[in-house]
Amino acid sequence: MKYGFATTAIHVGQEPEERTGAVTVPLYQTSTYAQEEVGRHKGFEYSRTDNPTRRSWETNIAALENGARGLAFASGSAALDTLLRLFSQGDHIVAAEDMYGGTFRLFETVFRRFGLDFTYVDMRNPENVAAAIKPNTRMVFSESPTNPMMNLTDLAAVAEIAHAHKTLFVVDNTFMTPCLQRPLDLGADIVMHSATKYLGGHSDLVSGLLVTKTEELGAKLAVLQNSIGAVPGPFDCWLCLRSTKTLAVRMQRHNENARAIAAHLESHAAVQKIYYPGLESHPQHDLARRQMNGFGGMISIDLGSSEKAHAFARSTELFLLAESLGGVESLINYPASMTHGSIPPENRQRLGITDGLIRLSVGIEEKEDLIADLDKALAAG
Ligand SMILES: *Cc1c(COP(=O)(O)O)cnc(C)c1O
Repeated sequence: MKYGFATTAIHVGQEPEERTGAVTVPLYQTSTYAQEEVGRHKGFEYSRTDNPTRRSWETNIAALENGARGLAFASGSAALDTLLRLFSQGDHIVAAEDMYGGTFRLFETVFRRFGLDFTYVDMRNPENVAAAIKPNTRMVFSESPTNPMMNLTDLAAVAEIAHAHKTLFVVDNTFMTPCLQRPLDLGADIVMHSATKYLGGHSDLVSGLLVTKTEELGAKLAVLQNSIGAVPGPFDCWLCLRSTKTLAVRMQRHNENARAIAAHLESHAAVQKIYYPGLESHPQHDLARRQMNGFGGMISIDLGSSEKAHAFARSTELFLLAESLGGVESLINYPASMTHGSIPPENRQRLGITDGLIRLSVGIEEKEDLIADLDKALAAG
C-alpha cells in the first residue's frame, strides 16, 4: 500500500474520470461497448467479462487487502461457488467446523455431489489442520473470527502448515474487513468477502469478493468469473465504491461501540456467557491483539435458554431482529434457527450454538442508546 488505509480506500481505483473530471466513478450501466473495428476496442467488450465501475471496485479492494487482483461477485456465496470450481473431483478441502452456515451448506449439499471431499476441524488449534491434511488436500479454508462463536484461527501458523503441504490457504475476512485484518499479509493466498456486510455497510446490497495474492491465481479466477458469470451489476459496485470511502471511520466506530457493549454485558447478571475477542477473558485475546487491528462489531451472548433468548429478541427496539450483519444499524440474530439453521442440531450443540445464543451486530449509533436498549430487553427476559 502506497498510502495509509483510509487514503487508499478513498483514492485507489477512484481517480477522477478522464472525460469530465467527475470525482466519483460514474455508474457505467451498460452491457456492451462499441468497437472501432473488428478486434479494436477500448479495453471493454462485454460486462460479464469486465465493466469500468466493477473494475474500479475490484482495483480498490485489491489495494485494501494488499493483493494482486480483486474479483467481484453477485454475493459472498457466488464468490465461494466460483472459488470451489478451482478444484476437481477427488480433491479434498480442510475447513473450519464453525464457519458461516451457508458456506457449510454449499460445501455439503452442492460440492460433495460433484466429488469434492471436506473435513471440518477446530481451527483454534493449528495442529488439527496439520492432522487433517491428506495427499489430495488442495485448500485449507478458514474464517476468523468465526460466526457466531468468535473463535480465532492463528492465520500465520495455519498458512505455514498449508504451504508446507502445498495447499492453498483461503480466509473468509467478512467479519474483520481489511481495515482490521489483512490475511494476505499473514500468508493467505486468497481472501473472500461477503461484501453484503461491512464492506457494503448499509444493508442495501448483496455482493461478494475474492482477492488473490498473486496475478497467476487472479487470472485463473478471472477465467472462472467470466465463464460462470455470477457477477454483480454496475450499480452494486458503485454502491460499494461509495461505501469503501467511509470504511475506516465506520469500523473505528463499530469497534468502539462493541467494546463498550461487551464490557457492559460481561458483568450483566442475565448474560451467562459472552464471546468477544476484545475482552481480556476471551481465551484467544492475545492472538486477537497480535493479528487484528481492532476487535470488530460482532458479539455473541448466551442467555441460557430458548425462552430467554426469544423474549430478548422480541424486546429490543433499536437492535432489529434480522439476518445479516455489518450495517450502520444494530441487528440481533438468533443463530440456532436463523443464520445457522443449516447446521445439524448435534453439531450446533457441540460448537456452542445453543438455543440461548444471541448474536449482536453492533452498529454505529450512540453507544449509550444501544446499551439502554439492551438493558431494557434483558430485563424483559
Ligand atoms: C453472509 C456471509 C457469507 C455469505 O455471503 P452472502 O453475501 O450472503 O452470499 C459468507 N461468510 C460470512 C462470514 C458471512 O457472514
